[in-house]
Amino acid sequence: MSDCLFCKIRDGLIPAKVVYKDDVCLAFKDINPQAPTHVLFIPHKHIPTVNDIAAEDEATVGHLFTAAAKLVKELGHDANGYRVVMNTNGDAGQTVFHIHLHLLAGRSLTWPPG
Ligand code: IMP
Repeated sequence: MSDCLFCKIRDGLIPAKVVYKDDVCLAFKDINPQAPTHVLFIPHKHIPTVNDIAAEDEATVGHLFTAAAKLVKELGHDANGYRVVMNTNGDAGQTVFHIHLHLLAGRSLTWPPG
């Protein structure tokens, strides 16, 4: 998707602070962090929203969670706690239409979110 911001980050066309990468996903620091640790995990595959996740994508999407949990452990946030979330479409405030798992950690997080 040539007009997708996160595809451009994936392809190295737009700089990002990459903190993790493997064959399935890429993780980089959010440009407008909402917590001391705010990282976005994206699949290399362009999938616009959670609504577009197909059965064949289940392993890919599951991998985002295991990659996030791995980074959380490395950063020492696993015991204190953290949040992983995907916003979907307008009511949830999705602004980039390439699915991304937000990882928020490093402070006490309120619930419910706004
Ligand atoms: P959404 O609102 O769930 O779609 O989240 C999009 C996220 O992408 C927001 O938290 C933005 O701060 C973040 N973001 C937008 N542009 C960039 C960028 O160029 N680099 C890193 N993060 C970005």
